[in-house]
Amino acid sequence: MNFEEFKQNHTLITSYKYTWAPIDKGYNNRYIYVNVSDYLIKEKPVTKQMKEKFIGGKGFGLRLLWDATDPKTAWNDPKNEIIISGGPICGITQYSGTGKSLVVSISPQTDSVMDSNVGGFFGPFLKFCGFDAFELQGKSEKDVIIILDEEREVVEIYDAGDLPRDSHVLAEELTEIMAKDERDKMNVGVVSAGTAAEHSLIGMLNFSFYDFKRKKVRLKQAGRGGIGTVLRDKNVRALVAKVKGIGGNRNNVVNLEAIVERGRRFNKEMRELDDKQNEMRKKGTAHLTHIMNDYDLLPVNNFKFGSHPDAFKIRGDVWMSYFTQGVPDGCWIGCNMSCAKGVDNYELRSGPYKGDKVIVDGPEYETTSSLGSVAGIFNPDFTIEANFYCDTYGICTITWGTILGFVMECYENGILNEERTGGLKLNFGNADVAMELLHQVSRGEGFGLIAGKGVRAMKELFGKNGWGDRKFLFDIAMENKGLEYSQYVSKESLAQQGGYAMTNKGPQHDEAWLIFMDMVNNQIPTFEKKAEALHYFPMFRTWFGLVGLCKLPWNDVEPEDNAESDEPAKVPGHVDNYVTIYNAVTGQNVDKDELVRQSERVYNFQRIFNLRRGYGTRKWDAQPYRAAGPVTIEEYESRADRYDKQLIEKIGYDPTGKTTEEKMRVLRNYREEQYEKLLDAVYLRRGWTKNGVPKIEHLKSLGMDLPELIEVVAPYQE
Ligand code: SF4
Repeated sequence: MNFEEFKQNHTLITSYKYTWAPIDKGYNNRYIYVNVSDYLIKEKPVTKQMKEKFIGGKGFGLRLLWDATDPKTAWNDPKNEIIISGGPICGITQYSGTGKSLVVSISPQTDSVMDSNVGGFFGPFLKFCGFDAFELQGKSEKDVIIILDEEREVVEIYDAGDLPRDSHVLAEELTEIMAKDERDKMNVGVVSAGTAAEHSLIGMLNFSFYDFKRKKVRLKQAGRGGIGTVLRDKNVRALVAKVKGIGGNRNNVVNLEAIVERGRRFNKEMRELDDKQNEMRKKGTAHLTHIMNDYDLLPVNNFKFGSHPDAFKIRGDVWMSYFTQGVPDGCWIGCNMSCAKGVDNYELRSGPYKGDKVIVDGPEYETTSSLGSVAGIFNPDFTIEANFYCDTYGICTITWGTILGFVMECYENGILNEERTGGLKLNFGNADVAMELLHQVSRGEGFGLIAGKGVRAMKELFGKNGWGDRKFLFDIAMENKGLEYSQYVSKESLAQQGGYAMTNKGPQHDEAWLIFMDMVNNQIPTFEKKAEALHYFPMFRTWFGLVGLCKLPWNDVEPEDNAESDEPAKVPGHVDNYVTIYNAVTGQNVDKDELVRQSERVYNFQRIFNLRRGYGTRKWDAQPYRAAGPVTIEEYESRADRYDKQLIEKIGYDPTGKTTEEKMRVLRNYREEQYEKLLDAVYLRRGWTKNGVPKIEHLKSLGMDLPELIEVVAPYQE
């Protein structure tokens, strides 16, 4: 179908004409607001305060969401919004990883603020169309498609009619409709969810990009926290951005030469060092699988264990043999890291697309574990097929995997049984049943409807029904703040436990990944050092989401002389690239410390946003004990030498002749106490009270003593 035929078959509900203007130093200085309750579309200015204090990306999303909602706004209230914003660097093409955007909304899973970063073309194209953010509010009476078209300078809302619902077919069809010819498909970016997002709280968003070499529409995911569910609740089936072209300097940067020079430097590192370091261009992040297994960090059977004898079946080399090699796999133009791997012509064996040959994105490391080892499954074909269906149905692979691990452990412990699961034998390792459960979510049927509510809802439901011991359920439910853990075993890294459970949105590794610094290299042995790392890294990493950058090129390849630098973990050579690029785009003159302060402002804002909604205090940073230590006798005894040694050396407790239960109790007391001490140290370093609330004097020092923030934190000052 072409666009003319589309218009004949789909009612145009409303159209908004705007005047296109070029981007100025990374900003359009306006954003677009669309309300699908009354089909209102308008432009709004990006204020000076938004740029100075919130920068862009997640910062803009949080600012707009705060203003649009009140503390009690529920995720499915028409007032809730989805905000997409790239940030000032988003859309340049001369440096790797410069096409990311951040999606922000009130989450169906956590009831608090969610942010999720994503590649694909929509974020940069939104900017090229003329807007620094897309703000979606309201709830439509019928399914709609929203189109932003740079060429015609319009934003339009159409009746979605009989367009498909699952992402791979919907994105393909909309790309076909909007593009004039094959090459023009490069100028289309689609955002969509899928059928499982309609029947669960864990829906995610797919952002498309057109892979010209393969002649295929591909998908990248804004996975965490159920924002796809919000999109479908608003009865929006897809957003489309169509641009005239990509071009070399659409951001109208101040100093293109400086960016080009840093881009060349980085590309040389990729050419010369990637094969010696992480092989991102051959394996993507899936190179991590066996490394995690070797260090006992790969989640197995709902995070009970960190390794498994069958893990060789999912090692990096195996994934490489599935991935098509030698094609540029960047999820945005110019990315030399090229980690968005793909399995081509994969023939599906189940579900509504059985027999179809499809391209499957990834799998990335997280998915090799979540749709694999965490459910006790070591079968790449299961992982690839489940990855495809999670993507096209619109649910997050990380979340789904941690759900699978939880329900399987419940099943193995009699908390669930065939009667309660509608006949599904959910033992660890049962790949066919795991696949059927996924299809059930898409169809909105059976136990799939319960599993699709997520781990927090399930542990509460099972506890309320009297299914199993409540304490055990809470110990093994790998969620914090309502979000499922991502895929690293944190038991032996106290800093990573904090990196997970102190994260503003819930336990995702994008704020802090400190396992190697802490556990493997022992670089941060004291509470003070751990606290410093849990200050610097979350603040620094937040910055990627303010400006439109992918964090992988920061440290997934390192300059050859990085080890000799003062602080190798910070990769100072690459930080310097980012300072240079930010200044070269915006014409500002900031240094590396100011980058961290930019993040710190937004980070504290998000913490206070949580507080405003009734969260954001110490009790919400608590972790399930499975994240900190062995919950079961089986777990303890599988690593008894390690734990016994720790009892002697760290606690001064002699385990000789003691029962496993007794040893577990002593170890647990110790580990829980250590975690509380860590919280004290980190809160102190971050300028927060003992209850985890930003102090007013700290907000003042950051220039974030905005009246609306002071009003929220004032009652919590010590
Ligand atoms: S490094 Fe990978 S995820 Fe990041 S922009 Fe490049 S291809 Fe995309």
